[in-house]
Amino acid sequence: MRKITIIGAGQAGLQLGIGLLSKGYHVTLVSNRSGEDIARGRVMSSQSMYDMAVGYERALGLAWWDDTCPPIAGVHMRAGNSAGETFVDWRSRMRAPGQSVDQRIKMPAWMREFERRGGTLVIEEADLAALERYAESADLVLVASGKGEIGQLFERDAERSTFDRPMRTISLTYVHGMKPRSDYSALNISINPGIGEYVNFPSLTLSGPCDIINLECIPGGPMDRWNEVSTPAEHLELAVELIREFFPWEAPRCERLSLTDDLGTLVGRIPPTVRKPLGKLPSGRKVLGMADVLVLNDPITGQGSNNASKCAMLYLDAILAHGQRPFDADWMQQTFERYWEYAQWVARFTNTHLLPPPDRVMKVFGACGQNPALAGRVANAFDDPRSLSPWYYDDAEADRFLESFAQPA
Ligand SMILES: Cc1cc2nc3c(=O)[nH]c(=O)nc-3n(C[C@H](O)[C@H](O)[C@H](O)COP(=O)(O)OP(=O)(O)OC[C@H]3O[C@@H](n4cnc5c(N)ncnc54)[C@H](O)[C@@H]3O)c2cc1C
Repeated sequence: MRKITIIGAGQAGLQLGIGLLSKGYHVTLVSNRSGEDIARGRVMSSQSMYDMAVGYERALGLAWWDDTCPPIAGVHMRAGNSAGETFVDWRSRMRAPGQSVDQRIKMPAWMREFERRGGTLVIEEADLAALERYAESADLVLVASGKGEIGQLFERDAERSTFDRPMRTISLTYVHGMKPRSDYSALNISINPGIGEYVNFPSLTLSGPCDIINLECIPGGPMDRWNEVSTPAEHLELAVELIREFFPWEAPRCERLSLTDDLGTLVGRIPPTVRKPLGKLPSGRKVLGMADVLVLNDPITGQGSNNASKCAMLYLDAILAHGQRPFDADWMQQTFERYWEYAQWVARFTNTHLLPPPDRVMKVFGACGQNPALAGRVANAFDDPRSLSPWYYDDAEADRFLESFAQPA
């Protein structure tokens, strides 16, 4: 049977690895952290995932939290100013609920499952020498190391990368005690144009159901104050202060918050980057990147874990379809291009939200408030951002799109 080695035990690496095991492949997964390290470590993401991406987990028998993870039933988007005046306000249920399972729960559980299903798990910080070693002994090496250093092996694709620097300072705060919404649980998106965004949704963490506060702060702007913070308590205090100041309509839900745990906070900056898919080792051997290694987005639209799941499924199909043939450079390039056919729309959707929203997008968001069918269409785009094209990106198409929703059914 063919031997596949995957570097990185995150959403992409584990999902692909377990998928390959179920088809009889010999799979080695290399992780720089053990399951215990991950479970005892800091939160890494807010990992909201929607129906298509969770569906791929279900297909592999890996969606174990459907009954315990609080659902994300809909989307509620508001845009307004610091005085609390909102000029966009729409909400809609999604076709199917999404969910966010803390990666500190999911990844250790999937690592145990990977070994239970016969995979070889190696705890090692893979460097170039290790990649050479694995490339020599495996039919294919995939690099699914997320934002890890080893991803630098893959050349940045300047044509496909929209930005060359981080566009937000991002903070995560995992909390208990947030007042539930009065209608249905939701991906709550609040925009204060020119200042930043606040995104919140329910999640399942180590201590049970919780809420995640994602603050997206324009660098150098009035929300970008995270260097003032040195303790978890100060982090929570600043998160609540920023919500009160810049998203006052959400403040009443945040009066009784406590941190889920001292490692339930994160601050960082992500440079949105697209990379070329083949990594060339000093020996001339080639390895293929996947998910965040190749298409890294700012988390503003919450798409990276979804991308990782979709990339894992697409790569799994491509590996199976390739049978016994060699995994050569052409196959690697073609496999990534098939993924890029999808991922480019995620990057475009996400990058649009990192810049001031174009008038046509504000017009559509405004119309969503009066038109439930339109609002439903936009809400479901979080599951599949391809559905936003072409109208999200073209004035004339946006007008045509709005007209189509104005007509009686
Ligand atoms: C603040 C924040 C909020 C986010 N919110 C969302 C959201 O709501 N929804 C969503 O869909 N996405 C979200 N994301 C993005 C999402 O978390 C990532 O896109 C997703 O985890 C990528 O999966 P991956 O498997 O490619 O990489 P990762 O999940 O990063 O996994 C890579 C793994 O490889 C390991 N590794 C790295 N280097 C090495 C090495 N040299 N050797 C061995 N192992 C190595 C790492 O330790 C890690 O375990 C968010 C990200 C951030 C930072």
